[in-house]
Amino acid sequence: MLPFIRFRTAVSASVTAALVCLGLVAPEVLVPSGPSAASAAPTVGTAGSAACSPGSHTLGSPNDRLYPDTGNGGYRSLHTNVDLVYSATGNRFLTGTQVQLTDQASQCLTSFSLDLERTSADKVAGPDLTVGSVSVDGRSATFAFVQPTYPGDPAGQNDPNPAAHEVSQTDPVGGPAHNPLPPACSPELTSTAAALQNVQNGMPCPATKLVVTPLVPVRDGATFTVTVAYTGRPGVHHDGDGTTEGWFRASDGGFVTTEPVGSEDWMPLNDFPTAKPTYDFYDTIAVGETAVANGILVSTTPHAASAAFPAGSVTWHWHSVAPIANYLVEDSVGNYTLTSRTGADGVIFYEAQDTSIPAARRAENLKIMNLQQNITAFESGFSGPYPFTSAGIIIGTPPASFEEEMQTMITFAGGSIGTSVLYHENMHQWWGDHVTESAYDMTFYKEGLATLAQGLYTARTAEDAAGGPNSGTGKAAFEASLVKQFNTLYASQGSFWSGAPSNPTPYSFFSVDATYNRPEAAYLALRQILGPAAFDRALKQIQTSYGGGNIDEAQLEVAFHQAMPNQSSSCSDRLDAFFSEWFDTPYPAGGGANRPQITGPGLAGPGFYDSAGGCN
Ligand SMILES: [Zn+2]
Repeated sequence: MLPFIRFRTAVSASVTAALVCLGLVAPEVLVPSGPSAASAAPTVGTAGSAACSPGSHTLGSPNDRLYPDTGNGGYRSLHTNVDLVYSATGNRFLTGTQVQLTDQASQCLTSFSLDLERTSADKVAGPDLTVGSVSVDGRSATFAFVQPTYPGDPAGQNDPNPAAHEVSQTDPVGGPAHNPLPPACSPELTSTAAALQNVQNGMPCPATKLVVTPLVPVRDGATFTVTVAYTGRPGVHHDGDGTTEGWFRASDGGFVTTEPVGSEDWMPLNDFPTAKPTYDFYDTIAVGETAVANGILVSTTPHAASAAFPAGSVTWHWHSVAPIANYLVEDSVGNYTLTSRTGADGVIFYEAQDTSIPAARRAENLKIMNLQQNITAFESGFSGPYPFTSAGIIIGTPPASFEEEMQTMITFAGGSIGTSVLYHENMHQWWGDHVTESAYDMTFYKEGLATLAQGLYTARTAEDAAGGPNSGTGKAAFEASLVKQFNTLYASQGSFWSGAPSNPTPYSFFSVDATYNRPEAAYLALRQILGPAAFDRALKQIQTSYGGGNIDEAQLEVAFHQAMPNQSSSCSDRLDAFFSEWFDTPYPAGGGANRPQITGPGLAGPGFYDSAGGCN
């Protein structure tokens, strides 16, 4: 993701509070939980397995403050069929819309949950969805919406204490009632103003957990399919920094861009980065409209006229053989042009633009879109082979707050695209998409590498101007550009170093300094410490080891440790200190002494090795 609108019109705190209160749903005790549930006798269907209990309503960890309400435990997400019957003119999901989620149980489940924000305080752009029915393996199941509970609550996820289900930026919640507990969800702010970031702290979280109770428990290890049929208006999610993401209304249809959690505003899912099912999309829409999703366009099947589609309809089937993280699911429907071509390496490149973008602008956009294959080849030199069988770009018109690396279908908002940002989003296909962050607080890892790609683009431009990549002068210009870029970032003052990249609040989650530029500077220094060849080797090794899954901070750092040329314990200790300074440490404002004090060879600052090449 790359944010480009950081500030929008402020809304007063009282209005914000009133809007949130409108969306409240009281906590609801649905199924037995806690110790009593764990000791309940197995029922038919458990096949003699151990005691059955509800799956966890979160994949967050104790004391999380970033979206602790999201994700669901007790099962693993394998595959999802998305069947949309969508009226683009009315922006509504019609009867026949459903998702079928195929999951594998990791415990015997009396119940399990999904994430779905049915309604919102935002009555215009927010969702207004109704679930009609839920079934498990074809048998009708009961369902209810409940509030999230803070991860690790010893009283269980149906804790009767209202304080266990409250909004906050921070841990503890605080708020007017001085709630000492961790937050159960992040705020849904309607303003980006810093002064308003805490206005919702202490309010009740909305009931976004869709708890499904099957007729009989699901056995541990069983593969099962839950089908959720729903209708209504998809919408956007208001985030902890006041921006929105999700299903944006386009002039005639929708435009989907959803980091970090907005997928739950148009479909029920396991809404957490490590939940990565494969996907099939079957979008039934009016003749003449276009559906653009992840993966490969398999088929378009026409249907005769119907009451919903008087001129006939078409079902667009897209298929992703690669697993997709929660925030990278793309499904934009409306008046889009769509073309494809196959690159020399067999990768299919898709290009889509909203037809309401002026023709001259579309032509300018196309020139940049056509660079994607070249950019992919360039970035492969650092990251390894392109990880997917297709690539693509869709340019929509809504003024979303950011561009996003939707898997194999990058979204550009506001009707235009830029070259440097395309380098950024395309680099995410390896970093974030193929190798996903293990939790929200690891977002800096992939944003730093995507921002590094923009630095590499700047260096590539300098290289071309100095004779190109096959000349000595070109190569020197490339390296000199990266050194200069590091030194510029390292000279940053003010609050640049104040936020630890690995520990943001919901409000500072997409801070340009802490989440983007500081991690980029860290990678530039790391490249000097390891040497360019070893740095690239580490990146490629991470792709091989973690592709299709996710990576945590310790695993990331081990991979770079293994690539360090000097394997002495003193250099290993120094690299640990480097990561701690650059990724985990908040500094007082000012720069100078208040910033990381380990850099790299040839860079501004104290460097890394001693005069003998060691770390003593
Ligand atoms: Zn990004």
